[in-house]
Amino acid sequence: MNIRKTIALVAHDNRKPDLLEWVDYNWQSLQGHKIICTGTTGSLIQEKFNQKLKGSKEVGPEIIRLKSGPLGGDQQLGSLICTNEIDIMIFLWDPMEPQPHDVDVKALERIAVLYNIPYASNRASADFLISSELFKTGYKPKLKDYSSYINRKI
Ligand code: PGA
Repeated sequence: MNIRKTIALVAHDNRKPDLLEWVDYNWQSLQGHKIICTGTTGSLIQEKFNQKLKGSKEVGPEIIRLKSGPLGGDQQLGSLICTNEIDIMIFLWDPMEPQPHDVDVKALERIAVLYNIPYASNRASADFLISSELFKTGYKPKLKDYSSYINRKI
């Protein structure tokens, strides 16, 4: 049985075509999961599912849109990772162009690493993630023990 996951999907403008192509290819594997996106990415993914399901009785996955990335969406997503509400993140960031919200991008990546969530930043890694046996299971990432940091003497 496939366990329902919450999957974050985000792409910078120059990478949106790559992400849409990935969704187009993998839309059936995304069915039944919950998708959380930054604003513009979410609209495009919603359109993609509408297109795919046009004329069918099937419904697409639940898609939640946060604010647009540069307007705080990356930070909202980071906050959801901190509260263990994201199982997987695919974030296609642009390696060729600086972004107005570079600091938010870096913060989001840092939080994804800190909370040890499966995170792909390019198409090939996204392909490996979605085709992994673990994608179908209730895999929960192991968190590093930060208690000595939390309880440190100041
Ligand atoms: P967008 O944000 O989906 O609203 O374009 C993406 C990002 O820059 O994080």
